[in-house]
Amino acid sequence: MPDLTRRSFLATSAAAGAAVALGEYALRPARAAPSPGAPADSIPPAPSWVDRPMRWAQLTLAENDPGTFDPQFWFDYFRRVHADAVCLSAGGCVAYYPTAVPYHHRSAWLGNSDVFGDLVAGCRKLGMVVIARTDPHATYDDAQAAHPDWIAVTADGKPRRHWASPEMWVTCGLGPYNFEFMTAVHEEIMSRYRVDGIFINRWDGSGPCYCEHCRANFKAATGQELPLAGDPLGTAGPAYRQWREDRLFALWRRWDATVRAVNPDSCIIPNTGGGATSSLDMRRVGDLAPTLMADRQARRGLLPPWANGKSAKEYRAALGRKPVVGIFSVGFEEVYRWKDSVQNPAEFRLWVADGLANGMRPWFTKFAGSINDPRWLKPVEEIYAWCHGAERYLRNERPLARVGLVYSQQTAWYQPADHGARDSLEGAELGWYQALIEARVPFEMVHDRLLDAAHLAPFRTLILPNIVALSDAQCDQLRQFVARGGGLVATYETSLHDETGNPRSDFGLADLFGVSSQRRGEGPMRNAYLSVEHASCPGHPLLAGLEDAPRIIHGVWRTEVVPAVRFDPPPLTLVPSYPDLPMEKVYPRQPRTNVPQVFLRDLPAAGRVIYFPWDIDRTFWEVLSVDHGKLLRNAVAWATNEPPIVMVEGPGVLDVALWRQRSSLTVHLVNLTNPMMMKGPVREILPVGAQRVHVRLPDGLTARGVHLLVAATTPKFQQQGQWLDVTVPSVAMHEVVAIDL
Ligand SMILES: [Zn+2]
Repeated sequence: MPDLTRRSFLATSAAAGAAVALGEYALRPARAAPSPGAPADSIPPAPSWVDRPMRWAQLTLAENDPGTFDPQFWFDYFRRVHADAVCLSAGGCVAYYPTAVPYHHRSAWLGNSDVFGDLVAGCRKLGMVVIARTDPHATYDDAQAAHPDWIAVTADGKPRRHWASPEMWVTCGLGPYNFEFMTAVHEEIMSRYRVDGIFINRWDGSGPCYCEHCRANFKAATGQELPLAGDPLGTAGPAYRQWREDRLFALWRRWDATVRAVNPDSCIIPNTGGGATSSLDMRRVGDLAPTLMADRQARRGLLPPWANGKSAKEYRAALGRKPVVGIFSVGFEEVYRWKDSVQNPAEFRLWVADGLANGMRPWFTKFAGSINDPRWLKPVEEIYAWCHGAERYLRNERPLARVGLVYSQQTAWYQPADHGARDSLEGAELGWYQALIEARVPFEMVHDRLLDAAHLAPFRTLILPNIVALSDAQCDQLRQFVARGGGLVATYETSLHDETGNPRSDFGLADLFGVSSQRRGEGPMRNAYLSVEHASCPGHPLLAGLEDAPRIIHGVWRTEVVPAVRFDPPPLTLVPSYPDLPMEKVYPRQPRTNVPQVFLRDLPAAGRVIYFPWDIDRTFWEVLSVDHGKLLRNAVAWATNEPPIVMVEGPGVLDVALWRQRSSLTVHLVNLTNPMMMKGPVREILPVGAQRVHVRLPDGLTARGVHLLVAATTPKFQQQGQWLDVTVPSVAMHEVVAIDL
């Protein structure tokens, strides 16, 4: 579902340009303690079933399915794939049961049947967890005539017809349609079927709404009129963002309380969440949700296949150990929405494998009960059969990554107006992600509002990829992290603004960086370079792999700083931009400067800090220069200043993840080496050759045995001290080195 309307809402509200929109963890148990500030008694307990399912199925019915599709086919398939939980279409736009709620539209094909009830009963017989699906985002003429105030209204005061089904109306997500009508629907479904939960798709409105309720409620809450002055199209602004979020959390709590009043061992699961560009504060989402479904169903455009693992990490940052389920589609997920399609199976196999490797439980979704193209059935059955066999090694207790990559929703929400030109919402973050994948460094995502000591305890190093907006309190938490010995790598304008985007006179982290901002910069720079200072920094670890390089390309944007403390000679200095045409004029006007372009500090009795006053990470994402990739890799290694927890040597691009289970440890290797890595769909899986895996076993643990879970072999291994060595002869798409302890 992350969809165009939500994207455009976000893009407008964040005043962002086109971005590739993509998403501690720590030790929050399944029944999490709430974040600071939330009343402790306000978080309902997790239903008893949430941690049980490992393999989800979803059957999303089309209105004409009743009477024409074969439920027995699906029961047989669910059994064959060992699915242990299911999500079934119940109501909202279309009711698949004989509802009594006025204006709850029964499927025109329903007749006297109860398709939903029959499916619930059949799945219960299979022992599955059963949740119902509703979708409240659209309704019909009769509802509109009786309740015109249920319908979303445009900025110029017109009720909105549905963009894809023009006989329908778009509903307001923040008014009585959701708060009253859908509450009655959810109560009815729970009362009649006592399902384990209700999953609600497209529940949060379809972009800004200017109906009478939104205008009155917004004015009552903020004193301001909708649309906000100077914002005729988008309703941008912190006040609107916060009001909308509060309204949606109130809705969430109302629906949740309604279903729990009927069935205390149930909950609602709104379809929500994600990374820096998601609209609701993931810290609050993580407090309230007992589990969540990450709804990024497949790649689109230029999304790399690791984006599914990234999603898992983003959710985990806010949910801790609560289960993160990854919805995947067997079809294309491009803007043209071929919802009935089937992709090349290599593509969705790789997508699911990267989610599994990063701790996601799979959920396949199929639209319509009738099958137009059966080619997906066998590959999904094979994926699920493997997951079923490997379940013991997929029930992770915690990731062992020592590096955390911070993501910041508030930077996306409150970035300065001109920021979009200098960084797409996530360009810096994506550059780091790619660099860490190439460096084969296991890492987690970290939410910037969860930087307390408990959440950061697993990490040795934090990366701040141009995290522009940071509060004083967040800066203090980062200071404490470094004081405890943590390493920090930061880029460009990190901490140059406060948490609501107001500019600071200097970096909030100036004392850690050891430099002061001059509040001016340069960019977009063309034809600028970096001098690699081997003479003054012989053998410097930041320059590893660049020994033969006297000069490398610079980035695109830089900011001017002056040192506030004494630094050793800088490993990288500025070669200023010079003309790139006519070719006769292409010679450096200033071949050398003494302007440092990286600042490294090894703080006594504390951690190491590296600051790059330019957009190395964003430029890496745009240009993918191998030299920049080496600098990013070396910066993390230098700041981390301890032996890696795992080293994997061999050819190719692998996503490497390291997990602890109750009595085992797993190293996941996902082979991303493919000509279609940067633009799907993958045509075929191309195996890579031998990988030597060195694992640093924590806590004096001893390995009792090693298995390769995909190859289904038992390789020879050696343990010397804490280091375990094993060779994986080949990786086709995914291998799991399972170490029994
Ligand atoms: Zn409204």
